[in-house]
Amino acid sequence: MARRHQAMSVRLKNFINGQWVDPEGGRYREDVDPANGAVLAEVPASTAADAGRAIAAAAEAFSAWRQVPGPKRGELLFEAGRLLQARKSALAEKMTREMGKVLLETAGDVQEGIDMAFYMAGEGRRSFGYTTPSELPDKFAMAMRDPIGVAGIITPWNFPMAIPTWKIFPALVAGNTVVFKPATEAPYLAYELVSILQEAGFPPGVVNLVFGSGTEVGEVLLTDPRVALISFTGSNQTGRHVAAVAGAGLKRVSLELGGKNAIIVLDDADLDLAVEGILWSAYGTTGQRCTACSRLIVQEGVYDRLRDRLVERIGQLRLGHGLAPGTDVGPLINRAAVEKVQQYVAWGREEGARLEIGGGMPTDPELGTGHFYLPTLFSEVGSNMRIAQEEIFGPVLSMIRVKTLSEAVAVNNQVAYGLSSSLFTANVNAAFRAIRDLATGIVYINAGTTGAEIHLPFGGTRGTGNGHREAGTAALDFFAEWKAVYVDYSGRLQRAQIDT
Ligand code: NAD
Repeated sequence: MARRHQAMSVRLKNFINGQWVDPEGGRYREDVDPANGAVLAEVPASTAADAGRAIAAAAEAFSAWRQVPGPKRGELLFEAGRLLQARKSALAEKMTREMGKVLLETAGDVQEGIDMAFYMAGEGRRSFGYTTPSELPDKFAMAMRDPIGVAGIITPWNFPMAIPTWKIFPALVAGNTVVFKPATEAPYLAYELVSILQEAGFPPGVVNLVFGSGTEVGEVLLTDPRVALISFTGSNQTGRHVAAVAGAGLKRVSLELGGKNAIIVLDDADLDLAVEGILWSAYGTTGQRCTACSRLIVQEGVYDRLRDRLVERIGQLRLGHGLAPGTDVGPLINRAAVEKVQQYVAWGREEGARLEIGGGMPTDPELGTGHFYLPTLFSEVGSNMRIAQEEIFGPVLSMIRVKTLSEAVAVNNQVAYGLSSSLFTANVNAAFRAIRDLATGIVYINAGTTGAEIHLPFGGTRGTGNGHREAGTAALDFFAEWKAVYVDYSGRLQRAQIDT
């Protein structure tokens, strides 16, 4: 693809205490379009000193922000939602340039941010606690939510608008202040989001943005005692490090990590529907979603037919720049991602899986300057093979053959991750048995593995995280501290649990 989409080469700044500022060390790195190598922006390569200033600003702002009434905090988020809505198509276009997924999907990514803004704006009036009878007479008991403090927000590049908003909006509406460190591969959308929050009227210091690497900036968030909680989304490997380092300081830590998600197709499934769901889940965002389908567990009666249908349809998927009309599949994020996918394809072949289609880089010279990889399908995959066990994060799907629903569920559950799973069937009994037994945080019936809605809890079991959930009201459980309050109006000392 030629460099015709190149547009916006600018120098970004950090946002600290309400000001756009240069990084203290004066170092920058390039933000590059993965489809054609065009340079989009120069981005601060900040240091610990920049991170420290942002944390100081957030800590200072917390004492006033925590006292702003929840409904007022919600009103600011509502305004942010309105601004996101007005700029949706421009933001989607920038996102496609920055991280490669097709325009339809980047618009959906922005829409998640809009939905989250309006949903969390409402939570400003709804952060319910509860009252409950005291065990003693003339005594009032209630539980209420309190803000916690400075929230360190660390995000990946694959949902550059949705994921930051899933973290920052509940953090803010609950009364916390924020230091946001976005992924190095998707800084431009972070800049746009924080600009909108500034414009919406959040006071100085309440939201701070520091660009930079995980090791230089992220690490400071993990260790600085002024940061009370860490909300992290990224790989399992980084997540373990985050949990260990931040946990040592007794920070509250939420981890949303990788996935190895499966679609199960039973013999009685609507195959047309299943094919659509599989293609969208496995090759949408070029397989780079935490909820992407990378395993297809198929009952033997329909296996061959489904494989042949998929091979035909995969061959028709069009690769290209995500802004070009008609593109189905964009590039991978960088060269390292292409090499990783290539390595897994080699392991799949070595372990005896059958490569049905794909399995290499496209030969089209138009795509030569981008990080493209052909949509790939393996059949006859053993459930213990590496391609069936490890997160590849690319357009590679592995077909596993099973005899029964019970076997399918067992195969689904025998990986280290537990984010999303899906079942295609016309049998309601099978559907409910699967809902009961699939050990994932999200289950879809007659839909693919992707497509979470923002008012339901989002997250996974086992290696996908540490038990917290994002989105829905569950998000507020992470970003608020419960406080139990007892008011004794008896006029005498009453002692709970003490025999009189
Ligand atoms: P990554 O782990 O490489 O990076 C994530 C973030 O952590 C980045 O901002 C990075 O700079 C930062 N980081 C790296 N080292 C750090 C350190 N030592 N201290 C603090 N921060 C550090 O992940 P990625 O490649 O950006 O994203 C892809 C991964 O994210 C995949 O595994 C994918 O499944 C996962 N993901 C999960 C979800 C979910 O909700 N479960 C959603 C999207 C992506």
